[in-house]
Order: sequence, then C-alpha cells, then structure tokens
Amino acid sequence: MNFDGFDFDDNIKQTFNTLDIQGRVPHAVVIESRDSEKAMSLAVFLSMYAVCTAPIKPCGSCEQCHKARNKAHPDIKYVELPKDRKQNSIEQMREIIKDSIIKPNDSNAKVYIFPFADTRLSEIVQNSFLKLLEEPPQNVYFILLCENSKKLLTTILSRASVFRLKTKDVFSEDAVEGARKIIKGILSAKEYELMQALYALSDKSLADEILLAVKLFLRDGMAKSIGADAVFDEECAGELARRFTRAKLISMIELTENAKLKIPKHININLLTTWLCGEYRRISWQR
Ligand SMILES: [Zn+2]
Repeated sequence: MNFDGFDFDDNIKQTFNTLDIQGRVPHAVVIESRDSEKAMSLAVFLSMYAVCTAPIKPCGSCEQCHKARNKAHPDIKYVELPKDRKQNSIEQMREIIKDSIIKPNDSNAKVYIFPFADTRLSEIVQNSFLKLLEEPPQNVYFILLCENSKKLLTTILSRASVFRLKTKDVFSEDAVEGARKIIKGILSAKEYELMQALYALSDKSLADEILLAVKLFLRDGMAKSIGADAVFDEECAGELARRFTRAKLISMIELTENAKLKIPKHININLLTTWLCGEYRRISWQR
C-alpha cells in the first residue's frame, strides 16, 4: 500500500499493509474516530485503494485515484442525508442494495461510504443492510464512519471489521496495567485471580478509565481474530482470540460497557466487582 499524502498512525498503516499483502482487505469496514475528518480521510484512502489500477495501490496519480480523492468518482458513493431529514431512509438503503449488484461504471469496484453511521442509520435501516454486508457483491466495499461504534448494532459489527483511529497514549499507565490484569483474570481458570484484579476498580478515579481500557483489550481480541493488529498488547489479544469466540468477546464488551455505566451511579463497588466477576466467568464458560 502507498500512504503518501495521508497521515495515519503506524498501527493503522501496519494493519492495512498486512491485510493488503494477505489479500484480505475487508469489504465491510467500520471506522471509529472522535475526529470525523480523520475517519473520512481513511475512507477516501480506502476508496482510492479500491478503484486504483496501479500495482501498488493507491498510487495517487492515476485517473481513478484522482477522481476518488476529489470525491468525484462515479463508482464511489457518499451516502448523504435526504432533504430535511436527520437519518438515512429505508428507501435510500433499498436503492443502495439494488445499485450494489449493478456493475461499476468506470472502474473495477464500487464503494459506499456512510458518514456518521452511528447516528444516521436507524436500527431498521441497519437491519435491512445485514444480508448485503455479510455477503457483499464482488468488488463492492461498504465503509461506515462513526464516532462510537457501540451505537451500531452488534450484528453489523460482527459482520464488519472495526478500525479505531485512537492510540493508547490517551490512557494512564495505571489504567492500562489494571485493565491488563483484569484480562489475565478473565483468561485465568481461577476465580480469585479475576476477583483480585477487579479490586483495582475500587479506586474510583481510575475505575472508568480501567474499564474503557478493558473494552479496548477485548476489541483487540476481536481485531486479532480477523488478522488485524492489536493496539495494547499483542499477547493478550492473541490469547483472547484463541480462547473466545467473537460472540463471547462481544458479550464481554457489552458487559464492560454496562459496568462502566454503573460507576457514576455511586454503586457499592464490592457488589459491582462481585457481579462483574460472576458475569465474565459466566460468559467465559457458557457453551
Ligand atoms: Zn491509482
């Protein structure tokens, strides 16, 4: 891959390079970033990659790349909001579903980019999209941009590859360490190891950050299971991916998110850790 003219962090570059070499650049992509411009720039990059005709894509200089970069390529659609609406409509989605099976005009690929997918795609619209996302027509790419991928249906997330444009340096070392211990506890066969690790949450100033980091560790596990790179810790991510199915990892991420919501409600922290311990273990060991 050629990243000239784009400013992505090394982790993202490495991930996409690896996927490119393995011929596994996903056709259903969710890009999460608090910076919507940054997310859009990755979407533009991927759209150039999809249509470029050079051996090392995107070359940045062929006609296809130019049109893609200028958002003027007939086979790359930016899904806009219907007039006077705050969400995309089911009619739009039906159009896209129909359109996606028609051959591209100008290149060998088609790309549909959905800005602000987490707020603009209702549950109904997302549901209507599932089948297409699971088996996209050949050379068709779907790129969903969002600020918070948790707001998308888990059924969408499980069919797409999620890329987060965020680095771990927003976390304190203590939070990352605390989270790593909890992950080790989840992986351990011994309940007391998890219980002990969860005591870190009794430091209320850190609890929220630790749980957020736990969530990202778990998402790393999911990234690993599709061959992408981990952000925090390759070793933990690898272990998580080997031990748990994606469905279990999604359940654990949801559970962690729930726990995070409970903390500001001044819940008794002992009750919270006991509950969390039981739930993580229930998910780990259920069939
Ligand atoms: Zn090109």
